[in-house]
Amino acid sequence: MSRPSSRTFLERLADGVVVGAEGYVFELERRGYIKAGPYVPEVILDDPDALRQLHREFLRAGADVMVALTYYAHREKLKDVGREGQLEELNRAAVRIANEIAAEGGALVAGNICNTWSFDPADPITSGEVVRAQYREQLGWAVEEGIDFVIAETNDFVGEALIGLEVCTELDLPAMVTFASVQPEKTYDGYDYVDAVKRLADAGAAVVGLNCSRGPETMLPVLEKIRAAVDVPIAAQPVPYRTSAAVPAFESLESPAGRAFPIALEPFAHTRFEMADFARRAADLGVSYVGICCGGAPHYVRAMAEALGRETPASKYSPALDLHPVLGDAGTEAQAGAHEVMGTWSAGA
Ligand SMILES: [Zn+2]
Repeated sequence: MSRPSSRTFLERLADGVVVGAEGYVFELERRGYIKAGPYVPEVILDDPDALRQLHREFLRAGADVMVALTYYAHREKLKDVGREGQLEELNRAAVRIANEIAAEGGALVAGNICNTWSFDPADPITSGEVVRAQYREQLGWAVEEGIDFVIAETNDFVGEALIGLEVCTELDLPAMVTFASVQPEKTYDGYDYVDAVKRLADAGAAVVGLNCSRGPETMLPVLEKIRAAVDVPIAAQPVPYRTSAAVPAFESLESPAGRAFPIALEPFAHTRFEMADFARRAADLGVSYVGICCGGAPHYVRAMAEALGRETPASKYSPALDLHPVLGDAGTEAQAGAHEVMGTWSAGA
């Protein structure tokens, strides 16, 4: 088994905040390379250069981790699009491409497993074996291609998350296990989110936390409770959308035109300044892995990395509105205005 990076995931976490970047599926859908609905990452085989380019953009924006795009690249989802015969080829290619681009900037490579939709809490033994077999085959290939650690994410069930962690442990891989938090208080199998991540930490997860579903405003209060409850490093990868106490998860956002999720979310999008503010607040709270999930894009990641004190390769082209031919000094005022909005939002959170 190879470890692509010269410094391990745990060493980097010990040194300071690790910047993550996800949202590959949503972004590649917007760019015309993945179909909304099934959301299977066919781009890996159909247009690998499109995937390489997005990895590179996240890397330039300051991401410390290239996440192999194996989200939904498991047996059950591939059957939906009639490509289960290419399962191995697709998984291996995704990890290979992540490694190729990570090497351009010394990034870590994460293998990725997620909610499978195969787990049934009413029959956890039989359904759990189906899940375990899918994780074993995905991560077996990932290990052969070379990964530093595993991100097991968007978990809806403690039972399924524990199976993912067990498979990582079998393979001697550090695991970052994060839950989606679609429901207001509990996982689909009835665990309070704080209790859920605590169980994973107690079972040996290297990092625990939350990803997807919630925007900054509704994820931060849960993170605060998690920080107080567990001793291991914690991770936060929110969606860049305006969720609220009334609508804590983006799946339920509605605009006057109707349901916004998953492809009409633009009216709820946060600005880069607001996501930068999230990064600072998460770091202040003691979050060790600060990233972004569905809706994530390079401009957010750069703003977040810069908010954490980084200068990234893409910082060369960070805004300088004072040099705008029309706005000039007014450009500086526009920036100040944006910061004011951000301040208002912070105060309300
Ligand atoms: Zn997501």
